[in-house]
Amino acid sequence: MKAFECKQCGECCRGEGGIRVQGDEIGRIARFLSITPAEFLSERCYFRHGRYYINTGADGFCAFFDKEKQCTIHPVKPLPCTLWPFYPALLNDPENWIMAQDACPGINPGSSFEEFRRQSRG
Ligand code: SF4
Ligand code: SF4
Repeated sequence: MKAFECKQCGECCRGEGGIRVQGDEIGRIARFLSITPAEFLSERCYFRHGRYYINTGADGFCAFFDKEKQCTIHPVKPLPCTLWPFYPALLNDPENWIMAQDACPGINPGSSFEEFRRQSRG
């Protein structure tokens, strides 16, 4: 078994913090949704401390998460979603990697930290 293999559980799409969107991502996602960047930001995002984040639905999941289809903007999803779980914080600190195993069932606790790092490099 790989050090990481997504189980499609959707847990990483849940949480009140929201996912940050920035730069070119805004235009790409807006085009994908056939709306303008301004509409995307005003209708599908919220602004906090100078940054835009994707809205969270009443169920606590990202507004673009669908229980059957999973991410409905998958081809243009923002960088944090593309990177997960290979975040620098996890790749540089084995304690964070261990903690992330509770949040993401796709991270194989039976593998080593080094295997996880190796997989991140492709
Ligand atoms: S929490 Fe992990 S296993 Fe679940 S969908 Fe996200 S990446 Fe995949
Ligand atoms: S953009 Fe897609 S992958 Fe990212 S949190 Fe929302 S539903 Fe999940």
